[in-house]
Amino acid sequence: MRVRAVALAATLTIFGGVFLAFPFCSPASASGPLNVVVTIPVLKDFAIQVGGPHVSVHSLLSGLESEHTYSPKPSDLVAIRNARVLLEVGVGLEVWVRSLIRNAGNPLLLVVTTSKGIALIRERGQKADRRGAGLRHQQLGNPHVWLDPENAKVMMRHITEAFIQTDSGHAKVYRNNQAEYLRQLDELQRELVNRVRGLTDRRVIVHHPAWPYFARRFGFSIEGEIVSQVGAEPSAKHLQALVKRIRDKQIRVIISEPQLNQKIPQVLARETNARVVVLTPLPGGIPGTQTYLDMLRYDVLELAKALERS
Ligand SMILES: [Zn+2]
Repeated sequence: MRVRAVALAATLTIFGGVFLAFPFCSPASASGPLNVVVTIPVLKDFAIQVGGPHVSVHSLLSGLESEHTYSPKPSDLVAIRNARVLLEVGVGLEVWVRSLIRNAGNPLLLVVTTSKGIALIRERGQKADRRGAGLRHQQLGNPHVWLDPENAKVMMRHITEAFIQTDSGHAKVYRNNQAEYLRQLDELQRELVNRVRGLTDRRVIVHHPAWPYFARRFGFSIEGEIVSQVGAEPSAKHLQALVKRIRDKQIRVIISEPQLNQKIPQVLARETNARVVVLTPLPGGIPGTQTYLDMLRYDVLELAKALERS
């Protein structure tokens, strides 16, 4: 009897171990919400929209740092160790996250690349540092996919599927929340497309190449960029060429971002009489842009106003 009980206990332990080690089969925790870690705040907003009270979401970036030059903190490792799902954008955006995931040693972690399946914009004809982000954007594609609401819909679907996979008990809630959010997103997209319809001058200079998806969706034209890689200083030659282009083509608007140094855009504006408009590619970068919908509305409306003033 005793031997059989021990054998049974051992068998259960083995199966239990297998069960736990296989992420897709592990039962949803009945105690407390699903622990989710995301790399950048836009993913936090998407995760909360889908998961509501059934998920607890922690974003590694707050929205005030640049997504390219972030230095992970020890607490990030702890957050990933305790998480069940990690959401990233991918396309080489979060170059710092892979080693964090490795070092966290969390075999239960489901890592979801939310850009999967999105048609990427590959920039050609732009001078790129051989090792830099410029070249990476040409090879892998530009990673700032979330700034087109159509791409945001694809990302939402990946997030919904991941939550259903890890917490099937709330599958219906997750699907309903997603459907409701996609409806709101459609409505905002229609409103914003209508808002920009009448603009005659749609040309802008950008600080870093965050905006090609945004520009394509809303019909803006990117005529130059201050840096092709965050963290690198533009050369004097590049800035001179940019000043000449702004003057020759009479470009009126330079887009800067709160996560980057404002000095160079301001110097360019002074030299050329163009104006700087500060837009945020990350929710929370500017007061009143905490959610993706608020951020998108802010960015489109502010840019439209700046272009109309010219
Ligand atoms: Zn960026």
